Amino acid sequence: MNYQYKVTFKVLLMLAITLIGIPAYFIMGGSIQMAIVFTLYGIITNALGQIAYHRWLAHDQFVPNIVARYAMIFGTIVCGNGNHIHNVYAHLNHHKYADTDKDTHNPQELGFLKMWLGWYKTPTDYFSMRKLLQKRDVVFASKNYWKLYAVISVLHFLITPWLVVWQAFNFTHMWIGLNWLNYAGHGHGKTGEPSKITGFLNHWMMGEGNHDVHHKSVKKLDMSEPGNVDWAGRYLIPMLLAK
Ligand SMILES: [Zn+2]
Ligand SMILES: [Zn+2]
Repeated sequence: MNYQYKVTFKVLLMLAITLIGIPAYFIMGGSIQMAIVFTLYGIITNALGQIAYHRWLAHDQFVPNIVARYAMIFGTIVCGNGNHIHNVYAHLNHHKYADTDKDTHNPQELGFLKMWLGWYKTPTDYFSMRKLLQKRDVVFASKNYWKLYAVISVLHFLITPWLVVWQAFNFTHMWIGLNWLNYAGHGHGKTGEPSKITGFLNHWMMGEGNHDVHHKSVKKLDMSEPGNVDWAGRYLIPMLLAK
C-alpha cells in the first residue's frame, strides 16, 4: 500500500472509531465532565504536537526548555500525525513550491476532500535536514513512531479504554483543522497564494491564521497582526523557551 493510501486508511479508521465510540460512551452512561477532560487533553497534546512539527522542527523558530521538549515530543506521538522527518521534509517542499504543481498539497489542484484523505503529492526536492537529524531524541521518536504510538495506546487503554476512543476523536478534529489551515490558508484553493484565516478559525488554527505572514517570513515566532492575534506565538511558546 502506498503512503497516501495508508494515511487514508488511518483517517477513515480514526473517523469510524470516533463515530461509533463517542456515541457509545454517552449511551453507556459516560459523564460529560470526563468527556471534557479527555477532549482538553487532546487539545493540549495536539497543540504541543503542531508547535513541535511546524514551529520547532520544520522552521526552527525557537529553542525549547527540556520539559517543553519532551512534552512536545509526547504531543507529536499522541496526536497520531506520523513520522517527524517525513512531515518536516514534506512541509519544506510545500514552502518552496507553494501553490505550484510541485506543492505537496496545493488546494487548487487537490481540493479539501483529497487533502483530508491524505492524497498529498510525494515531495521531490532535496533539503538539508542536518538540524533535525542532530536532535537524536526526535530522530528516535521518528524512526519508532508507530511503536511508540502503540505503547501510548496501551497505556491509555489501561487507564480507561475510552481514552483510546478519544485518541481517535482528537486525531480526527486535529486532522480536519490542519487540512483546513492548508486549504483556507491558501485562499480556499481559489487565489493561488497564501492568505489569512480570521476570527474563531484563527484561534482553532492555534493563531496560525496569518498564513500569508508565515509564508513571507518562516522564522517569525509571533505572527500576530492587528485584529488577528497569534496566541500560540505570543503567549504559549514564550513559556516553552529555554532560559
Ligand atoms: Zn510552515
Ligand atoms: Zn502554506
